[in-house]
Amino acid sequence: MTPAEKLAHQLYELSMNMWWAWNPAVIKLFRDIDSDGFRASKHNPLMVVRRLTGERLHDLAGDAAMRARVDRAYREFRAYISPTTPTWAETHAAPLRVRPVAYFSAEFGIHESLPIYSGGLGVLAGDHLKTASDMGLALVAVGLYYRESYFRQHIDREGQQHAEYVSAPTDYLCTTLKTGADGKPLIIEVPLAHERLLAQVWQVNVGRNQLLLLDTDLDGNSDENRRLAARLYFGDQRMRIRQELLLGVGGIRALRACGIDWSGLHLNEGHSAFATLEYARLRMIETGASFAEVAQDVAQSTVFTTHTPVDAGHDRFPPALADEHLEFLRQSLRLSREDFLGLGRVRPDDPREALCMTVLAFKMSRYANAVSCLHGRVTRRAWQVLWPHHREDEVPVGHITNGVHARTWLAPAMQELYSRRIGPDWADNLTEPKMWARIEGVLDAELWETHRTLRANLVSFVRREVAAQRRRNGHTEEMIQAATTALDPDALTIGFARRFATYKRANLLFTDVERLKRIVCNSDRPVQIVFAGKAHPADQPGQEVLKTVVQASMSLELRTRIVFVEDYDINVARHLVQGVDVWLNTPRRPQEASGTSGEKVLLNGGLNLSVLDGWWAEAYDGLNGFAIGNGVCHVDVAEQDRRDAESLYRVLESEVVPLYYNQDEQGVPHGWVAYIKRAIRTLGWRFNTDRMLRDYVVECYLPSAGVHSCAMRK
Ligand SMILES: *Cc1c(COP(=O)(O)O)cnc(C)c1O
Repeated sequence: MTPAEKLAHQLYELSMNMWWAWNPAVIKLFRDIDSDGFRASKHNPLMVVRRLTGERLHDLAGDAAMRARVDRAYREFRAYISPTTPTWAETHAAPLRVRPVAYFSAEFGIHESLPIYSGGLGVLAGDHLKTASDMGLALVAVGLYYRESYFRQHIDREGQQHAEYVSAPTDYLCTTLKTGADGKPLIIEVPLAHERLLAQVWQVNVGRNQLLLLDTDLDGNSDENRRLAARLYFGDQRMRIRQELLLGVGGIRALRACGIDWSGLHLNEGHSAFATLEYARLRMIETGASFAEVAQDVAQSTVFTTHTPVDAGHDRFPPALADEHLEFLRQSLRLSREDFLGLGRVRPDDPREALCMTVLAFKMSRYANAVSCLHGRVTRRAWQVLWPHHREDEVPVGHITNGVHARTWLAPAMQELYSRRIGPDWADNLTEPKMWARIEGVLDAELWETHRTLRANLVSFVRREVAAQRRRNGHTEEMIQAATTALDPDALTIGFARRFATYKRANLLFTDVERLKRIVCNSDRPVQIVFAGKAHPADQPGQEVLKTVVQASMSLELRTRIVFVEDYDINVARHLVQGVDVWLNTPRRPQEASGTSGEKVLLNGGLNLSVLDGWWAEAYDGLNGFAIGNGVCHVDVAEQDRRDAESLYRVLESEVVPLYYNQDEQGVPHGWVAYIKRAIRTLGWRFNTDRMLRDYVVECYLPSAGVHSCAMRK
């Protein structure tokens, strides 16, 4: 092999495993090799590799420093894939080594270059996968291959959102087609009402584990079916039930076709609950037993995580639609129509009741959990009807609070600070309170300086992005220029980015615009706010809220202080969570099941200003961030909104702004930094996915694989 060939081979192998997505040095390597190609492809290393010419490779191979960097990245990658010391899972979860956990999710947010996610659920699934790999936990993930992803957001001059669907070219995604023994692409079949749906299976490598993605865009499918999995969360109920059949039934068939046997199923949200029925069908064939008998076994090895108390978040299919699509399952499970539909009903014998995926998932899983302590209580109350003989607090639904994958979300500069001051092996000890306590020993000035640099990066990112967006969207030259000078790198910077679902109340801050102006436009103590987020294309009220925010960001008085960044995705999220001082979160309690974006901010030295909902309800201690309201909910929604707005303004005026601007001669706000340190010390060890996954292993995966353990916490 010539040096150029060796280099090409190493770079290709690195680009084909998404391990790079949580290794900043490797990302920088690809960026340095071809910054244009990297940027044009939403930071996709494979695109960089595809664009390499013979000449360019030759030049790179002739550069000793570059060769050394690639060698080093490659060695680290190989060492990661085949570790020589035992991983956490080898030591603590040995019984799970033989067969992987099969993890089903409708979306996966691993990196912006693989756009098969819409928001929090997907990002959580992505972080789950990365962490399983880091911990050496065998896990195989199953999802759908959305060629046109969710959607790209454009906002016109009136503040109206427009959705654009772009098809990603397959050869630039780091996927390979699964093939059978004959070398031909593996094709699985899912029986639908009057036809068979075909799917091929793509493999994405995520560190030591793989993600399988089902793709229906192939010959042999009708045009309608070819497009079935083109877009995420799109289309009517008919499309949804077909997508969910593909995910659940197709997913189990794909695992089987790939020769993968699993220790248990983990349903990340109810979308994939049909997997349990397909699994039951296979067990009946294998054992000859009845559905009632195998259902016990299937439930014993199934974990179900429910993610939202919002009613619209639970798919319900009318009986006729279910009849049409599930007849093959019903027949193979040898169930009467009533017994079959009853699996997805609260009242099994109510013929009008729809089939609810959440109910099906609860009934077919032995281990069910919510995603924060408060969400656990809310879930037990909401679904107690399924356990009529249990008191509310006895309902067998526990909680495991969501976390975030630290190395994905931490700015490289913060990672360096932690390596320097907390310990070079900080990333291996994320769940250790003692380790995080060392943050108290870091000099205020050093921590603050690091954070200032990150804020300055955010300000340049926002100016660049917003100017480019306004140019694309046909704004006036004046508005484009305004974007290039918006924001002040030293002003108190608030971030708000999330889906524009109305319960998240992005407009709460605009309840009293005059009061907001007084806070934001104070010339001695300016405050600036960066917004981002998409409203679902079918959500008109959400789009109206978005319009309010965008219009404010274009008004003469506010436009230097309030900006809206288009097309919220993992890339925008990363910039925001790394650079803001304050992360604002204003859901109507208790509708935010967990929320994870605030956890990303916390590790980067930002503070949370949030309603006591989701993770924040169990995280806030009075001195590690700020609370909106006191956790009491008013029955009247309008009254609740009014009180929360009042509390938000008051906390900003009397706590947040004064604490931030109380700075010494060098500009260091010691009181503020004390809050940052306390947040990192008290929360860093809990709100990460290492802690989360250990909880899943101990409380769900081991017991579901037949290894007895303690019961779920409530
Ligand atoms: C983290 C993240 C989310 C989830 O954030 P919430 O706090 O649940 O709103 C959504 N979208 C993106 C792109 C993210 O990175």
